[in-house]
Amino acid sequence: MTSKPKILVCDDEEGIRESLKLILGDFYEIILTNEGQQCLDCLKNAKDISVVLLDIKMPKVNGLDVLSQIKQNFPERKVIIVTGYKSVETAQEATRLGASGYIVKPFKSDEILETVQRNLK
Ligand SMILES: [Mg+2]
Repeated sequence: MTSKPKILVCDDEEGIRESLKLILGDFYEIILTNEGQQCLDCLKNAKDISVVLLDIKMPKVNGLDVLSQIKQNFPERKVIIVTGYKSVETAQEATRLGASGYIVKPFKSDEILETVQRNLK
């Protein structure tokens, strides 16, 4: 039996975490975190996480700061931004910091599945 690829989700809203788990859970192993430091700790401990789905607006550490720390410390991990904050500037900043994708909430299941799949290749 082959193990499922691991996806790390970081979002402060439980509803978003649960819906991402529902959408992706059949195909991937989902690890849920609710703030930036927890997300970084997870990456430190689980070397085999392929993709991170990362929120931007979170109470403790801003997602863009988390993104830049991920790219500094774990440059090979793909990061997809999933945000309710639709702004061209933020999307550009996320791309500049190394994000592989930018999805705006409310998202469709297909959109999430396709983007994750594309980033696993
Ligand atoms: Mg949020």
